[in-house]
Amino acid sequence: MKLCRFGEIGREKPAVITGAGVRRDVSGHARDFDDAFFAADGVEKLRQWFRANEQRCPVVPESARWGACIARPSKIVCIGLNYARHAAETGKDVPKEPVIFMKAPSSLCGPFDDLLIPKNSLKTDWEVELALVIGKRASYVAESEAMRHVAGYCLLNDYSERAFQLERAGQWVKGKSCDTFAPLGPFLATSDEIQDPHNLSLGLSVNGVVRQNSNTSDLIFGLPKLISYLSEFMTLLPGDVISTGTPEGVGLGMKPPQYLKPGDVVELFIEGLGKSKQKAVAYRAS
Ligand code: ZN
Repeated sequence: MKLCRFGEIGREKPAVITGAGVRRDVSGHARDFDDAFFAADGVEKLRQWFRANEQRCPVVPESARWGACIARPSKIVCIGLNYARHAAETGKDVPKEPVIFMKAPSSLCGPFDDLLIPKNSLKTDWEVELALVIGKRASYVAESEAMRHVAGYCLLNDYSERAFQLERAGQWVKGKSCDTFAPLGPFLATSDEIQDPHNLSLGLSVNGVVRQNSNTSDLIFGLPKLISYLSEFMTLLPGDVISTGTPEGVGLGMKPPQYLKPGDVVELFIEGLGKSKQKAVAYRAS
């Protein structure tokens, strides 16, 4: 099943994408795809309900905005340097254990929303990533049990301001958390839809030029390890997002480095998880 959300910013409603590619409004059954939905086994309940009620669900107009595919989570946890060639392009060693950082949940946005280049930013960069959404609370879970805690998968662009991230004091979170820095979707594919999350091609282009082109088979730490590892340090709650890291080909790694400017168009995809597209625009107060 493919879950998505539609409507104006802050007023999104839940929908299911049918086999024919049509979005059907399921707000008559589920309030939203949020922590309460996932915690209450919402995916399976929705699956059964939708099977019987699909034809009664209103068709969402094609023109309706795509929201982030889930509601704002309690946290967005990201993994750094999880592809060997990306670690190399940033001048870092391959890590001995996963590198963890956070993105502020307020950075979440829709998959086709504009990328707002932050005020005073000169180094806004792109990162295509496979993200997973937690379906069941996870605390100290074994690797062998970890995948039972996954609700599904989606596409994330982990936008990063490299000066804020690397040239300012302290942690990476400064360069990862600006508004619109986490376009998520177009949809959440429930875990039964993805046979092997460790063998998905993924890529990203800027203004039509391919910049990233890889496969999740190149991940250093796979999903069971990441979930188990993270659950040692924090409780993963239903609806939380874990993003698994980006492959090589970011702007920081180019010679000379190349960053986004207003008007640039970024397009990305992961096999089985659709495509997203953002246009970079100059900062404006919202
Ligand atoms: Zn990243």
